[in-house]
Amino acid sequence: EKRVRFAPSPTGAIHIGNIRTALFNYLFSRSEEAKLVLRIEDTDLGRSSKDFEELIFKELKWLGIEWDEGPDKPGDYGPYRQSERLSIYHKYAQKLLEEGKAYRCYCTPEELDEDRKISVANGDIPRYSGRCRNLTKEQEEKYIKEGRKPAIRFIIPNDVTIAFNDMIKGMIEIKSDTLGGDMIIVKSDGMPTYNFAVVIDDTLMKISHVIRGEDHIYNTPKQILIYKALGFDLPQFAHAPLILGQDRTKLSKRHGNTYIGQYREMGYLPEAMFNFLALLSWSPGDNEELMTKDEIIAKFNFKNIHKANPVFDIDKLNWINQQYIQKSSIERIVDLSIPYLKKAGYIDEVDDILYNWLKELIMLYKEGLHYIAEIPEKTKMFFTNELHYDNILKENILSSPACKKVLKEFKIEMEALNEVSQQTAKTMLKTLQKKTGVKGKEFFMPVRFALTGEGHGPELVKIIPLLGKEKIINRLEKALN
Ligand code: GLU
Repeated sequence: EKRVRFAPSPTGAIHIGNIRTALFNYLFSRSEEAKLVLRIEDTDLGRSSKDFEELIFKELKWLGIEWDEGPDKPGDYGPYRQSERLSIYHKYAQKLLEEGKAYRCYCTPEELDEDRKISVANGDIPRYSGRCRNLTKEQEEKYIKEGRKPAIRFIIPNDVTIAFNDMIKGMIEIKSDTLGGDMIIVKSDGMPTYNFAVVIDDTLMKISHVIRGEDHIYNTPKQILIYKALGFDLPQFAHAPLILGQDRTKLSKRHGNTYIGQYREMGYLPEAMFNFLALLSWSPGDNEELMTKDEIIAKFNFKNIHKANPVFDIDKLNWINQQYIQKSSIERIVDLSIPYLKKAGYIDEVDDILYNWLKELIMLYKEGLHYIAEIPEKTKMFFTNELHYDNILKENILSSPACKKVLKEFKIEMEALNEVSQQTAKTMLKTLQKKTGVKGKEFFMPVRFALTGEGHGPELVKIIPLLGKEKIINRLEKALN
């Protein structure tokens, strides 16, 4: 049976790279009929929190990633939080101690620092000297009396090459001398380190394929040594290439938003995000770019994973999201827009009349929308009472005699109009052009500017009924001043 896992640490918001790892595991599980385990790696007590754990659940659910076993989904191999598995890790650490494959280390931070400095001064990488490897009973007792709390270190053999065949990267060979010396597997506070706990958990949870980011590639040989020391079978490893920013350096804050939650909050649609993230590092082989979740699952094949680092292209994300917004029902886009309009202070309670008005309004912008948070900015002229005209444009456009004439007549017609609809607006604009003798661009540009304060936007006949009589008359008065 194939089993994969996503193993996030609940220590902060979820990075795009991490969510893509989750997505890979998900796609693998759904296309290979494997089980997906969600394991919370919360052994860093100082930095882990339940709130961040909740956030992990939230982001995964939002994106449409379902898991089969996890802290909230009982399975045969739980518990699925590392903090609830401490006795298991201690048991295996004990076994390694008894077999002489690990030892207690009493070194102080100062001593460790000294070791690292010495090895660096000798032209080596920072390395633990192994000074506690062969302590005598007396030395150990002395340290214990001093109140030192031991960590447990795993012995890294000298001069061996650890090789594994990565499903994405191919054959990887790493020399044991590059691993920094004997490594801590249980810290002095009793918590296991990542490299130790992950091996125990992946084994006991029967994980067959370990799919994670390339940033873990130097952890893998350490883990392999532990697998071997405990007599465990190795899983298959797959390390996904890191995501880069547009300048081809590792994606980071400098490049803009790097947390999945930021995109959720900006109003990217989850299915668009899913689609976009799937295309980072994988392509279906045909030229299809817009695919539903089911289509992606049906087409997904590990063989088509790119070996090169993908570039996070915000323009592409915006394009994909725009396509999904266009395909969505207007009601959905209105519902999604309402919280943003409320937050901007533009609307309050939404009754049927307002809802219908919002539908008409948002319809005007739906085609061009990249993400929902753009809505308040795009529609602000419909909500503000006082327009602030750009001074230069005001001088140039609104003060010409022809414009004044048009706006004055417009006001008169508007006041006489009983029902403002697209139809009546159309007729009125025609009448006005006839009456004033001002036509085409000369006519529409100043009118648009007077009504909206902007140089371009949706068609005037569509804007006029949505603005309504009162707002229009107020604006004409202001523009004439
Ligand atoms: N908790 C680790 C992380 O979030 C898991 C890495 C792994 O998948 O082994 O980076």
